[in-house]
Amino acid sequence: MRTRIISLVVIAFSAISCNQAQTVTKNAEGKGEELSAFFVNTQGDTIYRVIKDEDDWRTELGKMEYDVLRNAATERPFTGDLLENKAIGTYICAACKLPLFESDTKFDSHCGWPSYFQAIDPTHIIEKEDNSYGMVRVELLCARCGGHLGHVFNDGPPPTGLRYCINSASLDFEKKED
Ligand SMILES: [Zn+2]
Repeated sequence: MRTRIISLVVIAFSAISCNQAQTVTKNAEGKGEELSAFFVNTQGDTIYRVIKDEDDWRTELGKMEYDVLRNAATERPFTGDLLENKAIGTYICAACKLPLFESDTKFDSHCGWPSYFQAIDPTHIIEKEDNSYGMVRVELLCARCGGHLGHVFNDGPPPTGLRYCINSASLDFEKKED
């Protein structure tokens, strides 16, 4: 009987450990949202989420990048280094390098932040309701690291009618080789 109880306890403990390994309990704002340990994008690639301590992010990222990506700050309009970038290539998450936007979906929205009408893959970006500052907006998070990217609005150009309004600080740019 004693052995049976011990093995049941072991099984229960294993189940809890396993469950913890498969979930992420923290997003960019530290709210207890649970995400699976990986997701499969539309290409069929399995992408494992990147989870790090805030101290590690603080060490790896510049101050502006950290404030935007990890604390959902917004860079001042017309100050980002990628706002006027017209080169051909791919915009990736500045924290975990997940591809987010292709240059041929970038357009000049005159809003002061890099703007795109379509994500490179809809599974690479998580949309989340944001009611801060008395507004109802849709916040965008990197699906791999949970980093804050910006917001999406319904006033973009065809074909999607969407405007993904993204902080330059949340992005790095990989120029396409000729
Ligand atoms: Zn990321």
